[in-house]
Amino acid sequence: ATPTAVMVGTGVGASQGVLIKGGQALESAHKVNCIVFDKTGTLTIGKPVVVNTRLLKNMVLREFYELVAAAEVNSEHPLAKAIVEYAKKFREDEENPAWPEAKDFESITGHGVKAIVRNKEIIVGNKSLMVERNIAVPIDAEEILAEAEGLAQTGILIAIDGKVAGVLSISDPLKPGAQEVISILKSMKIRSIMVTGDNWGTANSIANEVGIETVIAEAKPDQKAEKVKELQASGNIVAMVGDGINDSPALVAADVGMAIGAGTDIAIEAADIVLMKSNLEDVITAIHLSRKTFTRIR
Ligand code: ADP
Ligand code: MG
Repeated sequence: ATPTAVMVGTGVGASQGVLIKGGQALESAHKVNCIVFDKTGTLTIGKPVVVNTRLLKNMVLREFYELVAAAEVNSEHPLAKAIVEYAKKFREDEENPAWPEAKDFESITGHGVKAIVRNKEIIVGNKSLMVERNIAVPIDAEEILAEAEGLAQTGILIAIDGKVAGVLSISDPLKPGAQEVISILKSMKIRSIMVTGDNWGTANSIANEVGIETVIAEAKPDQKAEKVKELQASGNIVAMVGDGINDSPALVAADVGMAIGAGTDIAIEAADIVLMKSNLEDVITAIHLSRKTFTRIR
């Protein structure tokens, strides 16, 4: 393609909300035969809501959610936002919930958070975080987690002073049209893979719903990038679609990194293409644009 054709292609993309950072990205897009999708915020809406709370300790919900929210209010994670939003329902003044102070806040990427609230150690996160911190996960908590995962929900454990005190179920439905996008890609001979930091149960349920056969769950950010490199090493031209800080190493590693416009700044910076409207269909728009610019067949 001539430089003019590339300019035209980039311009058409921009007018459709597909921001292409340079000719190389536009060129690579039509060779892609494999797309790695992040789950949360990419395939799913990314505005999760708490749908269930189960207390395993004798305490009132108001007190429980006060401790959990005080820890999570310091986190940028969409699950943290869902938890804080839900916790507000238990405050007198929902607009100004005024959470207690959290000390020694720690964010464990891909796992959860930790903080000291009212002299209690609060840990909110997935099972592997509990295991890592030597916190026993009781059978009833395991059962609630399994139930949530079967429903494609994410189960989050809350430990207070080293003991699991409750389990939350959080639902984050698929974006409308997600199934269609995956099936169109299939018809274009492009294979879709899902890579997520979420647990295997939830990941498999979501993948099943959207029509993706290959799933990698419980992946840390560098493992997402490793998967991209592994696919490249076996001869694939790989696109990565993601929205989070945890996706940025994979977005950089991919032949074409595509960031969801509503995603975090770090992901947008790491990507070659930004889907400004945050529509999954625009993954296909970008590939079509590249095909039009770089192949003679129309
Ligand atoms: P994804 O790849 O699906 O975007 P992440 O890698 O960001 O997910 O997170 C993986 C998992 O870690 C989440 O599903 C959740 O179980 C846990 N987690 C991460 N951050 C938090 C948080 N702030 N609060 C509770 N759990 C969290
Ligand atoms: Mg995400």
